[in-house]
Amino acid sequence: MTFISKTPHADVVLIGGGIMSATLGAFLKQLEPDWTISLFERLDQPGLESSDPWNNAGTGHAALCELNYSPAAKDGTVNPAKALVINEQFQLSRQFWSHLVDNNLIGTPKGFINTVPHMSFVIGEDHTRFLKTRYEALKPHPLFRSMEYSEDHAQIAKWAPLIVKGRDPKQRIAATRAAEGTDVDFGALTRELTTYLGNNGVEINYRHDVTGISRASDGGWDLTLKYPRSGEHGKIHAKFVFVGAGGGALHLLQASGIPESKGYGGFPVSGQFFRCTDEAIAAQHSAKVYGQASVGAPPMSVPHLDTRYVNGKRSLLFGPYAGFSTNFLKNGSYLDLPLSIRPGNIIPMLAVAKDNMDLTAYLVKEVVKKHGQKVEALREYYPEAKGGDWELITAGQRVQIIKKDPQKGGILQFGTEVIAGRDGSIGALLGASPGASTAVPIMIELLQKTFPKNFKGWQSKLKDMMPGYGVKLDESPDLAAELERATAKSLQLESVSASH
Ligand SMILES: Cc1cc2nc3c(=O)[nH]c(=O)nc-3n(C[C@H](O)[C@H](O)[C@H](O)COP(=O)(O)OP(=O)(O)OC[C@H]3O[C@@H](n4cnc5c(N)ncnc54)[C@H](O)[C@@H]3O)c2cc1C
Repeated sequence: MTFISKTPHADVVLIGGGIMSATLGAFLKQLEPDWTISLFERLDQPGLESSDPWNNAGTGHAALCELNYSPAAKDGTVNPAKALVINEQFQLSRQFWSHLVDNNLIGTPKGFINTVPHMSFVIGEDHTRFLKTRYEALKPHPLFRSMEYSEDHAQIAKWAPLIVKGRDPKQRIAATRAAEGTDVDFGALTRELTTYLGNNGVEINYRHDVTGISRASDGGWDLTLKYPRSGEHGKIHAKFVFVGAGGGALHLLQASGIPESKGYGGFPVSGQFFRCTDEAIAAQHSAKVYGQASVGAPPMSVPHLDTRYVNGKRSLLFGPYAGFSTNFLKNGSYLDLPLSIRPGNIIPMLAVAKDNMDLTAYLVKEVVKKHGQKVEALREYYPEAKGGDWELITAGQRVQIIKKDPQKGGILQFGTEVIAGRDGSIGALLGASPGASTAVPIMIELLQKTFPKNFKGWQSKLKDMMPGYGVKLDESPDLAAELERATAKSLQLESVSASH
């Protein structure tokens, strides 16, 4: 049986109902209110895959605590450049979210963003030296001006008592703290955004799987749809398609046949977190405490002990414990990885397998870790933790990008990458990090690549929504402070600008 989507044609089709599609939809609705937009999501609700709060760590990534964004060079120096870029990107997200809240387009910010100080925490002489150097490299920059540093057990205990209590007082430790850090429930934000879209004329279709995509004779795209409950099939034509399918993006991009998709592959990393919902324990920790990654660990596997706010409830999260599964989506199939192999990406994939033996060894070690060993890892951050207070939960899948490399044949990339068809009629997002926190600048990049002509005309509207758009805040300290204060007020966060 075949059905046609409620509307047989849309100017824009968004595939997937995660934070990326929802953010892109929110931009387009405001930039071009008359365009027709349809969103198709295979699950029952929006934001249930990687954007779900328990499938990710909910860190508002601003490089305030993540040491992998500013690693030490061979000579021990720390280059702050990447950390500055990531923080600037997060400021854009804050500004866009503030704009939506200020204009009553989405609901109360407490439902999706809360102040949770960001800390880095290290043990031992070498790591302490590194952390101090990193602090000195970042502190002079306006976006890091509130950062504090300490090697004193008593001071660190004031910031985060659980990480010090029960620790050998002679152990060499050090920490930094940025009071303006945030915890973000990206699932709740996705729901807010899709509700806004649905209330403003966007056709939202849940339980619709996009199963195929092919070039239409007019240069647009014909999409085939499946309604999994009844097995019915349907179709829709679109002028522009965004493949915002998260881990499912690679298959659809390959199906589109655009030359820009050639050579890309995916390497899925799964994971688990420990979660503690005991209110008495959660009340003792108010921070996201990020440490150093183990040897061979991918950058996003840095251990961290986090305060989380989900549905108004405070709890703790520790992890991730990396794992391996061939699924590209948590609700995907074990065949996802094998079915993604193409003649065009087999060489990059083999090259990555050969060159990343330390990652393979790390994953094998993680996969065989017993429950007791997982508790031991937790105790490095929370010495008095009791295993019984924590439950293991399965996190979302991260599909890392494998791509061609002229020297090595193929490389594994831990960031995100916007892929755009040359004629601008299709765009997609591959990769997973820094992820949802930078959905706003990533979707602006996608708009720029896929709508180059319209983009020029959108500049003033973008500037109205995000006053810091196009400005390097690192070079504009007064504006940086003003926007920090303004967005903190709109998003009901604690502001650090008032005291600096
Ligand atoms: C363990 C882990 C920890 C993370 N921690 C953080 C963090 O602390 N901070 C941060 O900023 N980011 C973090 N991330 C990254 C962040 O979660 C992702 O970057 C972000 O959620 C991706 O959003 P998305 O919309 O691209 O994908 P998703 O949220 O996965 O949405 C894609 C949607 O597409 C749907 N879909 C797929 N295929 C189809 C199809 N064929 N037809 C219709 N629908 C389809 C899926 O069902 C899904 O709902 C983390 C990710 C993981 C896995």
